[in-house]
Amino acid sequence: MIEVSWGARTDVGRQRSVNEDAYLVRPPLFAVADGMGGHAAGDQASAITIDVLAEFAAITAPTRHDVLRLIRKADAAIVQMASDPSKRGMGTTVCIVALLEEQRGRALVANVGDSRVYLVGSDGWRQITRDHSLVQELLDAGSIDEAEVDHHPDRHVLTRSLGSGVSLEIDWWVVDAHRGERFVLASDGLTKELSPAEIVGIVSSNPDPQQAADRLVAAALDAGGRDNVTVVVVEPTTTVWSVVGDADPLDADTNPTRTRR
Ligand code: MG
Repeated sequence: MIEVSWGARTDVGRQRSVNEDAYLVRPPLFAVADGMGGHAAGDQASAITIDVLAEFAAITAPTRHDVLRLIRKADAAIVQMASDPSKRGMGTTVCIVALLEEQRGRALVANVGDSRVYLVGSDGWRQITRDHSLVQELLDAGSIDEAEVDHHPDRHVLTRSLGSGVSLEIDWWVVDAHRGERFVLASDGLTKELSPAEIVGIVSSNPDPQQAADRLVAAALDAGGRDNVTVVVVEPTTTVWSVVGDADPLDADTNPTRTRR
């Protein structure tokens, strides 16, 4: 049995009237979804995604394939809802951490859109997911630098989302988390308000995952709270997290799209 402690918080923020973010904490599955689209469609998109992902709890001996299948099921459900003209343009991001027995204690991380997963340890951190956003593509192409990202007029434009109606590409990784390391799942309401260094500093100085989540959200609100803010902090406490590297030798044969930084 994989043991895990976690904390989670969401907040509408200081400027929005509706919280279109949603999260799921149902060990061994954790997720954050950030909906988009007017007339309450955005919060429906993220909510239906969380509802579909919650079906994970009913699966006996779940695998990576179950997680990816549920993400695709959520995508299809949103595409169907968005066929209603009043809900055109509805969609959501999703990022996931799943601690699966079949991965021998390692974690499956997956994302679509710009909600992020960081892994924070006592002596370092890394961003596991890569944003599916226009500014990320411009960064990768060398067209803009990091300093321009925060002020770019198209910084909210996503290149992938659930519900877009185009063939869904999900990025995923199998990650080793060592003892004491914590996953941080966050919507862009956190990551656009706080730098990675600020996020890591708060996580590192708050050993309790719930306290870390509370403090992260409070800091994002203090920084302006311009968007809905959602954070889930996950700390695996099982002791078998020991293998180094994020390769997945168990199933190289069944590997779908996998993008690495
Ligand atoms: Mg957002």
